[in-house]
Amino acid sequence: MPEGDSVYKAAAKLRAALDQQVLTRTDFRVPAFATLDLSGQTVTSVVPRGKHLLIRVAEGTDTAAVDAAAAPAPAPTPAGDPGSGLTIHSHLKMEGVWQIYGAGERWRKPSYLARGVLSTASKTAVGFELGLLEVVPTASEDSIVGHLGPDLLGPDWDADLALANLLSDPARPVALALLDQRNLAGLGNVFANELSFLRGVRPQTPIGEIADPKRLVALAFKAIMVNKDRPIRNLTGLPRGKPRYWVHGRRGEACLRCGTRIESDQLGTGPTDTRYMWWCPSCQK
Ligand SMILES: [Zn+2]
Repeated sequence: MPEGDSVYKAAAKLRAALDQQVLTRTDFRVPAFATLDLSGQTVTSVVPRGKHLLIRVAEGTDTAAVDAAAAPAPAPTPAGDPGSGLTIHSHLKMEGVWQIYGAGERWRKPSYLARGVLSTASKTAVGFELGLLEVVPTASEDSIVGHLGPDLLGPDWDADLALANLLSDPARPVALALLDQRNLAGLGNVFANELSFLRGVRPQTPIGEIADPKRLVALAFKAIMVNKDRPIRNLTGLPRGKPRYWVHGRRGEACLRCGTRIESDQLGTGPTDTRYMWWCPSCQK
């Protein structure tokens, strides 16, 4: 699963390429939206919400191209008006990525992996292997992201609310509680494992039993903030070439703190809620 910092970076890239630009061509390579054409619409904002990317478009913000004298002017639509705009909603899931190309530039991934293509006069954004791509009325965004808890990278971040949400189910393993986007939005498996290590608790520990959960929330915020603008995520702070993660993906390797072999296991209650967990049996009691 992508982490919130990856989605934040993807949104920044898309915003730089598309924001306030008129779409000249769109191509949605998903059956439900294959015939949808949003060319002529203006991108009014690009917003990350947890792990969801929202590209909002609206009619009529660029009317310069239209001969205004030729027809009675329709009622103007304010940019971003949720009453009439549409939202291109994507989720990166496992392999998804948005890439930006200049006009005529060759794509770095095969065309058959492209799910969405959004072109302006000078740039083309291509979404490859997106886990989800749909277009919904902006007014209905709540049906997509309304369930999310406070967003670690959003204007709605609220550490107290996140803490209360996490502790509302005290028996839940700490890693699964952190991964539940209804508690707080933005953490994926990397952060869930690394934060458990950094707090010295096993991912399986019930969240209600850990000491000072408030510090866990503060650490989650700090860890994602310092990584949101880094090109490569790094939780250890070690230089390039050294491990970036304390435990994630390091089964059988030596703990960077104590040398004990890192262990791993699956954790979860079902096919959609099963995750791999890693921990140091000495550092995480
Ligand atoms: Zn250790």
